[in-house]
Amino acid sequence: MHQKPDGDAMGSSLGLYHVLIQLGHQVTVVSPTNWASFLNWMPGCDLVLDFEKSIHKDKALAAIENADWIFCLDYNVLSRTKNMEQALANAKGERILIDHHQHPQTEVFAFGISDTSKSSTAEMVFDFIKASGNENKINVLSAECLYAGVMTDTGSFRFPLTSASVHTMVASLKEKGLNHSKVHELLFDNFSENRLRFIGNVLLNRLEVFFEYNTALIAIPQADLVKYDIKTGDTEGLVNYPLSIEGIKLAAIIIDRGEERKCSFRSKGDFDVNIFARTYFNGGGHKNAAGGQSIETLEEVKNKFMQAVKDNKDQLSDYSF
Ligand code: 5GP
Ligand code: MN
Repeated sequence: MHQKPDGDAMGSSLGLYHVLIQLGHQVTVVSPTNWASFLNWMPGCDLVLDFEKSIHKDKALAAIENADWIFCLDYNVLSRTKNMEQALANAKGERILIDHHQHPQTEVFAFGISDTSKSSTAEMVFDFIKASGNENKINVLSAECLYAGVMTDTGSFRFPLTSASVHTMVASLKEKGLNHSKVHELLFDNFSENRLRFIGNVLLNRLEVFFEYNTALIAIPQADLVKYDIKTGDTEGLVNYPLSIEGIKLAAIIIDRGEERKCSFRSKGDFDVNIFARTYFNGGGHKNAAGGQSIETLEEVKNKFMQAVKDNKDQLSDYSF
């Protein structure tokens, strides 16, 4: 899975894990970094190795080196695995890609499926298991993980890529005993009081709206993260809030994480934030959800963003779906 795994990266990996072990395979699930604590409930999450943890690293390196097959899930290029990139590149086993991001690094994968029309990697893993004739191996544990992946990547089934096949998949998971309400509660009703007050502070004091560009920006200084004791994952989803303002077509969040400024972009309609993130912020992603990063100061990144918005004024001020 990619670094700082989200619900889809963790959900698709563990969803596949629960099927592969039933087929008699020896499976090790590795994350390049730590992850948000709201993912810890996922069945099997306690077995996932964190490549950045010293007690896990050797085990992870050995697993990568000795693996016959390495499933690369929810990322398009090996660099999305951060410090794990070299080990993956050197691995003797076959790398297999299952992913829905644009521009996959095809030359490094022996096999793979890359389909940007898919809602989530979890949906693609479901399709893969089904096509391999093993749908009957999807138990409740796997179903909960796959559901968490598809649900988070579709914004709870509202984004445009939520196809009929997504709903068919969920119906099939329900038939296998999935308790979807439980998964929603575990993912969304599991935060600290601090985090809610942090969101209050962000919406009140850090949100700027530029109606002439149909754009909103949230810039979060590091001091806020310290004050509210904000952890990995606590800022996830914040970038979506400004899109609930009528007319807003582009929402951005820039977070000062100390070592770098992390950006997330979300758009509605035709404005392509994948291109936007690639062009200005050394990043990428999907048409309506992308990210990037910068080593410049928060103020500099904010200015860069405003200049980029001005460069794209024509597209942004013409509001249509
Ligand atoms: P998020 O804003 O939730 O971190 O990421 C949104 C989407 O953009 C995800 O699909 C993620 O893979 C992609 N993304 C986020 N940050 C980066 C980045 O720095 N580089 C690239 N290439 N993609 C990113
Ligand atoms: Mn995904």
